[in-house]
Amino acid sequence: MPQRDVMDKLVSLGKRRGFIFQSSEIYGGTGSVWDYGPLGIELKRNVKESWWSRMVHRRADVEGVDASVLMHPRVWEASGHVEGFTDPLVECRRCKLRFREDQLAAGRCGKKPSRAPGDHGACELGEARRFNLMFRTFMGPVEDEGSTVYLRPETAQGSYVNFLNVQMASRQRIPFGIAQIGKAFRNEITPGHFIFRTREFEQAEMQFFVEPGTDEEWFERWLSDRLAWHRALGVRADRLRLHEHGPDELAHYAKKAVDIQYRFPFGWSELEGIHNRTDFDLRRHAEYSGKRLLYIDSGRGQRFLPYVVETAVGVDRTVLMLLADAYREEEVGGVERVVLSLDPGMAPVKAAVFPLVKKDGLPERARAIAGELRKAALPVFYDEAGSIGRRYRRQDEAGTPWCITVDGETNRDGSVTIRDRDTLVQERVHASRVHAWMRERLEGRG
Ligand code: ATP
Repeated sequence: MPQRDVMDKLVSLGKRRGFIFQSSEIYGGTGSVWDYGPLGIELKRNVKESWWSRMVHRRADVEGVDASVLMHPRVWEASGHVEGFTDPLVECRRCKLRFREDQLAAGRCGKKPSRAPGDHGACELGEARRFNLMFRTFMGPVEDEGSTVYLRPETAQGSYVNFLNVQMASRQRIPFGIAQIGKAFRNEITPGHFIFRTREFEQAEMQFFVEPGTDEEWFERWLSDRLAWHRALGVRADRLRLHEHGPDELAHYAKKAVDIQYRFPFGWSELEGIHNRTDFDLRRHAEYSGKRLLYIDSGRGQRFLPYVVETAVGVDRTVLMLLADAYREEEVGGVERVVLSLDPGMAPVKAAVFPLVKKDGLPERARAIAGELRKAALPVFYDEAGSIGRRYRRQDEAGTPWCITVDGETNRDGSVTIRDRDTLVQERVHASRVHAWMRERLEGRG
């Protein structure tokens, strides 16, 4: 299957099964913003919970915060975003389409190949101008320069400005980190590839504050830990690789940056960035706010500005990676099926429960099993509509790892069948053991 087609198929599967809808679709849609449906929100929550568990709950040296989207406007002057968070925008005088000049150079401008200048041979590109990617709005009733605020383009700054608050309140000692998951907004010139590049998205970022001199070692530790997380999500290892930024790519604040890339259907692209940001952010915030942001090491009688190693991953890009990696079209027993082979830990619905037929008390038994699993906080789906084959297909497309069927034998010996989505093997398990059977297989996943 051509990889480009996979993206179109994911968009249509996303809508059909309730993963992802176009925002404000009944009005014709909004440019590059998407809504998560019932299955999509579960998948996204699983991604975020897996990240939070690994980055915060399972460590003693990382604390969480949830900073606001709107911040003091000086934050963005200090961070360099007001001045420098720009992309070079070029416009074609004929077709009026706009492109990012740096992407033209890489030969991947425009959303679709047919929209790329040169394809129709007639594009007349104007001069590049710098376009600031931050969304601006106004705080309070007066819309003037003095009330300008920005929707944050990254969550990181909320962690820097709270560095001392968190350190003192939690009595952490360096090295320690601040983790955050939240919305970010960028007025991207060329959004696209479904939820890969959107104007409203979610980031999971962690800022790790270390003593200067230990930053390079921490960088390597975090890089390998983050790569291990992506692998643990169950994606194919040969579709993950590292890309180190050369001197021309490196952001002004960074001493070193390595991207974790995934081979999306449209090519290798960034999923996560690991950055050595030195003391740039704390130094700038100290300068712009006039506050001392030094860390006091009372044990050694020293004060210093910590260096920061940042890990920054896009939640939506991770969801797209999981969908693209899991999507398969296969033939089973002469019948075509679409299946999402998501890791059970990530799957939105863990099991579907079916009565084989709608009689002999089977629906009641099946409902009771579904009810027990729900009580144990496992998301399950009950379905009695249509042939068993069709019910399996619906669950295959939703990525549900197990289908539990109640049949005539259940009435005789209390056992049910559990069908594995990937191997299609059916196992008979006593109804009272189903919960434990699933827990054993979900243990330690994600
Ligand atoms: P890109 O080069 O793709 O624009 P970036 O280097 O600007 O990304 P960062 O500022 O490092 O990205 O942000 C960290 C992560 O946030 C990225 O690795 C990506 O997963 C995610 N991200 C950034 N911009 C977007 C966007 N417009 N839509 C969805 N996710 C995004």
